[in-house]
Order: sequence, then C-alpha cells, then structure tokens
Amino acid sequence: MAEHYIPDNLPTRIRHYIDGEFVDSVSGRTFDVLDPVSNETYATAAAGQKEDIDLAVAAARKAFTTGPWPRMKPRERARVLYRIADAVEAQEARLAQLETFDTGLPITQAKGQALRAAENFRFFADLIVAQFDDAMKVPGAQINYVNRKPIGVAGLITPWNTPFMLESWKLAPALATGNTVVLKPAEFTPLSASLWAKIFQDAGLPDGVFNLVNGLGEEAGDALVKHPDVPLISFTGETTTGKTIFRNAAENLKGLSMELGGKSPAIIFADADLDAAIDSTLFGVFSLNGERCTAGSRILVHRDIYEEFCDKYAARAKKIVVGDPHDPTTEVGALVHPEHYDKVARYVEIGKSEGRLLAGGGRPEGRPTGNFIAPTVFADVAPDARIFQEEIFGPVVAITPFADDAEALALANNTRYGLAGYVWTNDLTRAHTFAQNLEAGMVWLNSHNVRDLRTPFGGVKASGLGHEGGYRSIDFYTDQQAVHISI
Ligand code: NAD
Repeated sequence: MAEHYIPDNLPTRIRHYIDGEFVDSVSGRTFDVLDPVSNETYATAAAGQKEDIDLAVAAARKAFTTGPWPRMKPRERARVLYRIADAVEAQEARLAQLETFDTGLPITQAKGQALRAAENFRFFADLIVAQFDDAMKVPGAQINYVNRKPIGVAGLITPWNTPFMLESWKLAPALATGNTVVLKPAEFTPLSASLWAKIFQDAGLPDGVFNLVNGLGEEAGDALVKHPDVPLISFTGETTTGKTIFRNAAENLKGLSMELGGKSPAIIFADADLDAAIDSTLFGVFSLNGERCTAGSRILVHRDIYEEFCDKYAARAKKIVVGDPHDPTTEVGALVHPEHYDKVARYVEIGKSEGRLLAGGGRPEGRPTGNFIAPTVFADVAPDARIFQEEIFGPVVAITPFADDAEALALANNTRYGLAGYVWTNDLTRAHTFAQNLEAGMVWLNSHNVRDLRTPFGGVKASGLGHEGGYRSIDFYTDQQAVHISI
C-alpha cells in the first residue's frame, strides 16, 4: 500500500469543552473516529448525551444572562474577533494537516480553509462595527427607532465537509452579535473543532460564551434542537436531517437557519468559452472530493457541442490524480468515511444502468482499500434518473444534452433542490435572463464558485430555509425591537 502520512501529536481522546474546561461525557460514553485512508480508529470522542447538552446550555445561558459578552460594545467584541482571526490564520499549516487527515480532503485544498475561516471572523467584526439601524420620524407625532439585541444561546450544528471553515461561518456571526453558543460538530470529523477552545481562550473570549459538545446527531444534536433554552438553531447538513430538525424545533418555535443539500446544474451553451467551462465544471464537481454542497453535479450541454464537450471532459477527468490526501499532487483524496464511501459507490453502480460511463466507475487503480473513488463521468443521463435527481456528494457527475434555452431551463429546474447554478454563455442577455429564471439561491455566470461574504448564501426549495451572508446573518442572530416615542 502507498505511504500514508499521519500528523504529529494527534489526540487519542477528543473531549467536550464546556464553560472553559475540557470534559468527557457525563455518561462516559465515546464513539470511534476513523481516518479515511486506513479506516482505522485513531481516536475516541466523547459521545454527548442530553446531560452534556444541558450542562453546555446552562453555561452558555449563564454567560449570556450575567456575563460581559452580550453587553460589550461592538468595537470591543470586534477586537476579540480580530485576535481570533489572527490565531486561526497562524494555525493554517497545522489546521490543513488535521483537516486533511480527518476528512480525506486533498492537502492543497485544505490549505485555504484557515484563511477563509479567519476572513469570516474579520468580516463579521467589521460588520458589527459598521452596523446601524433605522430611525424613522413621523413629523409632529413620533420618532421610532430599532433596538438590535442578541437573542441568547445559539445552537450550531455542522457537517463534515470543510468542517472548521463551516463552523466559522456560524461561530463568527453568532458571536459577533453578542450571542453565546453551543457547537455540535459532525461526528465523522470532530478533530479540528477542538482547536477552537484554545483559540477562543487565548483571544480573551469569556468562559461559557463558546461551548462544544461532540456526539451523534440523533443524541447530542437532537438534545440541542429540543432544548427549551436554545432559541436559535443554525444547521448545515442534509435535507432529510433538516426536516427532522424543523419538526423537533417546532415545539419551542425556534429561529431556524438551514443550509441543506444540492444537485446544482452547470449549463453550457454553444457560444460559451468551452475550455474555461470545462476547467470550471471539472473543478465544480471534483474539487473537495465532490463533497461540496454547491457542486455542479449535473452538467447540461447544448447539443451542438455535446460530443466535443463529453470527449474533452472525460479525457480530463481520467487524468485527475487520486491519491493520499497529504500528497501535494493529489487532486481527489479519500471520501470521509466508509459509510459515505458505500453510499457513493452504490450511486456509481446505479449510474452504470442510467448513463453512458465515460470515466471512472469505481476504485482507482492501486487503491484496493480506503475510501477512494475515481472521478466518475456519466453522459446521456435522463432527467428521471436517480443520479440526475439525488445528491451523491462525491466525485460523480451526470451530463445531459439540451436543444434550446427552454429545454435547458426545464432540465436545470427539474429537481427538488435549488442551491446553486452555473451558467456558461457569452450572450449577456441570455445569461441574465437564465439566471433570473433559475430556481437556485446562488448563480455564477461564467465563473467558478467564488464567494463574496456580503451576498446572500443559501438555497431555495429543498436546499434551505433562510439566507445568511452579510447583514442577513446579523438579522438571523439578533432581535430587532421597534421603539416608538410620541413627540
Ligand atoms: P447530516 O445532515 O448527516 O449531518 C449534519 C449535522 O447534523 C451533523 O453534525 C449531525 O450529527 C447532525 N444531525 C444528524 N441528525 C440530527 C438530528 N436528528 N438532530 C440534530 N442534529 C442532527 O449531513 P452531513 O452528511 O454531515 O453533511 C453533508 C450534507 O450537508 C450534504 O447534504 C450537503 O449538501 C450539506 N451541506 C450543505 C451546505 C450548505 O451550505 N447548503 C454546506 C455544506 C454541506
């Protein structure tokens, strides 16, 4: 077997962090954490139960009701957030190693994650300092203004793809606005979340403001969602989990933000810059091992360029280097966990009867073990095929031809999801008209998925509920009280 890099000083026990202390589960229960290349257990993590969530929520509640954090001026909180950002950035190399080891992401792609996480903290620090709210006057009658207040304990539940960065996407706005938090990271990848404790401590975040409970979704996650003292849940994960959380949060009428699954289309018109479109659509589905919510996992191509596109695309897909996640030449690493590998491998088998296999189709050569799947391309996929309709969340893409704009739009919108869309055309009018008609929360025109933190992030249909990003995140994590004064 090829050599497998293992980072130094890996913990063998991963614990909760409650009220400024690392602790085990009150129950003593643990779960195994696997490395996705060997699929061997490298650590055990505390398996949070309701009692652990109760302790974490009590600590967060105390920090909210009696601690300084919600009462600090925005500038004071921003200073702490800037220190957090600097500390995150300083850990770039170590974080990339841990993230790659725990998730199986290629090291070159794990490397940007700390910088993105740091940027999330700086961005929301800047935003709360610049934040102003409306004041309205009714001449001779009233002055009315908006009082913006943090809400309380925010429950943050996150998935395993780019775990640390996605945690920062919730932690930064929740903390910036003066809330206290309980984070429940994904059980497949709990390693990097532990880094937050020391980063926050060193930056001067008061104890109890940040609490971390590891554990399974059905146990720790469930208890957090049902806890009556947690008025907000920000969740990123699968659509089916989102539905369960929606039901469970109903009893206490919680504020919910849901960033869910996707099956996003990339639409390539005949007038597109074909080489740029091929580069981008390869990146769109094969970067991050295809474990990307906004992956362009359905490629719709105009019939005039369909065969040329398929040939060139498949030739490039076959050249993608699958290998040890820590090897800097690797472009696709190991899928996160054997359960997820089994799911993706099942879809590859289903695809063989639903489309024309152009590349991949199983394990890459020389990788008989570990969660490796060769970049897999299916062409001629019908819109009712499962690989066209269902989120695979791996390095698998479905290509389908279209004859005209109307058919392209019908195909693009023909799923229950609506997260992202990518449109490739040199016709300006077509690009904007098509974007307008796409049922997608985010559209990129002639572009990769590049984020601007000020813009809304989120999906429509089964891809999400509510949008975060810029002031929308501030709105989600705060109450806006209207105060009316008679004059
Ligand atoms: P998942 O839904 O299985 O798990 C996500 C989190 O929810 C985990 O922490 C899990 O423990 C927890 N959880 C599971 N059941 C729960 C329950 N009953 N109550 C409370 N918490 C529970 O998702 P995953 O497999 O970790 O992540 C992959 C999914 O996330 C994909 O569908 C992907 O598209 C989606 N995703 C979406 C975005 C986005 O921004 N829209 C970003 C990244 C990932």
